[in-house]
Amino acid sequence: MKAAVLNAIKEPLVIRDMPLREPNNDEVVLKQTLTGICFRDILTKDGFLPRVKIPIIPGHEISGVIEAMGEKVEGFRIGQRVASLIYAPCGKCEFCLRGEENLCPHKEAYGETRNGAYGERVIVNSRSIVPVPDGVKDADATLSACVTGMLYNAIGRVGGLKEGQRILISGAGGGVGVHAIQIAKALGGYVIAKTSSPWKAEALHRLGADEVITSENFDREIKSKFNDGVHLALEAVGLPTFERTLRSLRSGGRMVVVGNVNPESVQLPLGLIIMKGNSISGSISSTRKDVETALDMTSKGKIHAYSEKTISLEEVNSAYDDMQNRRAIGRILIDVTR
Ligand SMILES: [Zn+2]
Ligand SMILES: [Zn+2]
Repeated sequence: MKAAVLNAIKEPLVIRDMPLREPNNDEVVLKQTLTGICFRDILTKDGFLPRVKIPIIPGHEISGVIEAMGEKVEGFRIGQRVASLIYAPCGKCEFCLRGEENLCPHKEAYGETRNGAYGERVIVNSRSIVPVPDGVKDADATLSACVTGMLYNAIGRVGGLKEGQRILISGAGGGVGVHAIQIAKALGGYVIAKTSSPWKAEALHRLGADEVITSENFDREIKSKFNDGVHLALEAVGLPTFERTLRSLRSGGRMVVVGNVNPESVQLPLGLIIMKGNSISGSISSTRKDVETALDMTSKGKIHAYSEKTISLEEVNSAYDDMQNRRAIGRILIDVTR
């Protein structure tokens, strides 16, 4: 099978032939058409995720048709279309047993410790998959775990966004941000989209953003417009925007961190969060329930995959460049059949 492979940390990916092993008892083989490129894939290549096993097929944005399955797989059939979590949960720990498998300490990540999605076929554990409703397109299915399901978890469950509340989304023009705008609107939020790329503003308005802010001092702009700031902030960038995002919160406001483009530590003004009673939470990935919810929102037309670029496997290194230099809006997809 042709795949893009990470042979060495900090080296460009290489297109090569990779053997496809047989699925284990509880695994399925999926035949994919599209996969997404996540910023985490770039961090993996650059060595920021120490558990990665080299050589590896990167990528964790997975959906496809079940082509083969192990003997112990139950509840799924050959030919069925499914979307996959970005990891294989253990299925036994306290988190897995209560449906919070995103917190499983034993989970194994596709594209990091198990071969991932940058090839036409991918082997995933049956505990990772959920059925895809008819009418949901491949791009939407592929982004339902890492992007839309993750954002439903972060904004809806962890962030607890209520109808009419203001939400600030940093990195709003990126692959996460363009979907966060849609989820926040679907949940009834008043969406303030922050992007450092003014040319993306029009597209963000079209996606539903009520306000688009491009200034560096976005916390001041928010405070001058709304007096007391936002109820919820989704931090999808990390270090470069963290402190100003924190300063954009109103008293009692919450920040949910889902992205970190720069692995260095941030400054945390403790006095500020005490005086304003702010809270900061991390939110990791999605559960199968979140993925089901995201797919349901998609099939009802409330959200859709936003991508302006689909590439071949051979173009993956230049796509990484585009993402690092913020030249891309929305998710870049790879057509793995090309
Ligand atoms: Zn991802
Ligand atoms: Zn577990």
